Amino acid sequence: MNLQVVTMTLGPAETNTYLVAAAGSQKAVVIDPSWDGHLILDEAKKRNWRITNIWLTHAHFDHFGGSAAVADGTSPPPPVALHSEDYPLWRANGGGDSYGLKFDPGPEPTIDLAHGQTLYVGDIEFQVRFAPGHTRGHVMFYVPSDKLMFVGDVIFQMSIGRTDFPNDAGGGQLPGSNHNTLIESIHREVLGLPDETRLLPGHGPATTVGDERRFNPFLQE
Ligand SMILES: [Zn+2]
Ligand SMILES: [Zn+2]
Repeated sequence: MNLQVVTMTLGPAETNTYLVAAAGSQKAVVIDPSWDGHLILDEAKKRNWRITNIWLTHAHFDHFGGSAAVADGTSPPPPVALHSEDYPLWRANGGGDSYGLKFDPGPEPTIDLAHGQTLYVGDIEFQVRFAPGHTRGHVMFYVPSDKLMFVGDVIFQMSIGRTDFPNDAGGGQLPGSNHNTLIESIHREVLGLPDETRLLPGHGPATTVGDERRFNPFLQE
């Protein structure tokens, strides 16, 4: 295993933030800086890691509420990556308005993620997999060398992402959740991977493709 993964569970929705770095490298990427960016910075500093990028699986507020503090405390500020289909949701405060949450969204995303794109942390390859359904522009980050995938809110241990969000924010266009689209995404982009692939979700504990294929109640025929 070459990839170092630090998991932090932060914020009002207990969202998992993943700080990742290649072993021996001092550059790190934050996947979903969910909240309390100062704690994420502390964690990076402790390991002598400099945060070079922020990657978002999707634009719900609880997955980027810590972006501003991470960017403010890092020089130069790390660019934010997001799929363009989730930009409208990002601009609409990630749906936080309906919870009465006001927060600084941090830097506007400038890296446009697309299916099949390759990203690197040190020399470790991450593949972007497009998996809409929970939101319109949800992506996952697959690391073939380490047999793991950061899956955001697509699939959880024995559960799947919510698709019951109110569709009123942003003039009826947001957040675009759709149950059937989500199930299709899981079959296409998750269940085709080897059973031992570890899945690191946006909420709750890690699981594996094999466990979810066999036991996840939402995926049984
Ligand atoms: Zn979400
Ligand atoms: Zn979430």
